[in-house]
Amino acid sequence: MNETTCPFCRIAAGTLPADLVATEASWIAFRDLHPQAPVHVLIVPRRHLVSAVELENDPALAGTLLAAVARVARREGLAERGYRIVSNVGHEGGQTVPHLHFHLLGGRPLHWPPG
Ligand code: AMP
Ligand code: ZN
Repeated sequence: MNETTCPFCRIAAGTLPADLVATEASWIAFRDLHPQAPVHVLIVPRRHLVSAVELENDPALAGTLLAAVARVARREGLAERGYRIVSNVGHEGGQTVPHLHFHLLGGRPLHWPPG
């Protein structure tokens, strides 16, 4: 998958529609197509990194993305009630889209541990 076929690169480029909730210089946020909670937003760097594995080489971007998640969570009304941040990595991590993203899940009590 390259930057012309990657769905999240296409959303960032504006060539694939999405329900955008934030567009910033280095990241975007949009609602998940198959929401698993009342609030289910994906926070995605514009740059095509495959997964969180690559964040080892870019701690500044890692910080920016976590701050982005916190900002979107606050705007979605989740800061007080709580929420979950998830980034699935690779095959056994359950990652299905090979472009780094953080799931922001909230709006209902979430169970633990995950499957
Ligand atoms: P993961 O399985 O962790 O890689 O998460 C990928 C997520 O992207 C899933 O929750 C999908 O529902 C979601 N998804 C896939 N394609 C799109 C899309 N075009 N717009 C919004 N969400 C998408
Ligand atoms: Zn991509």
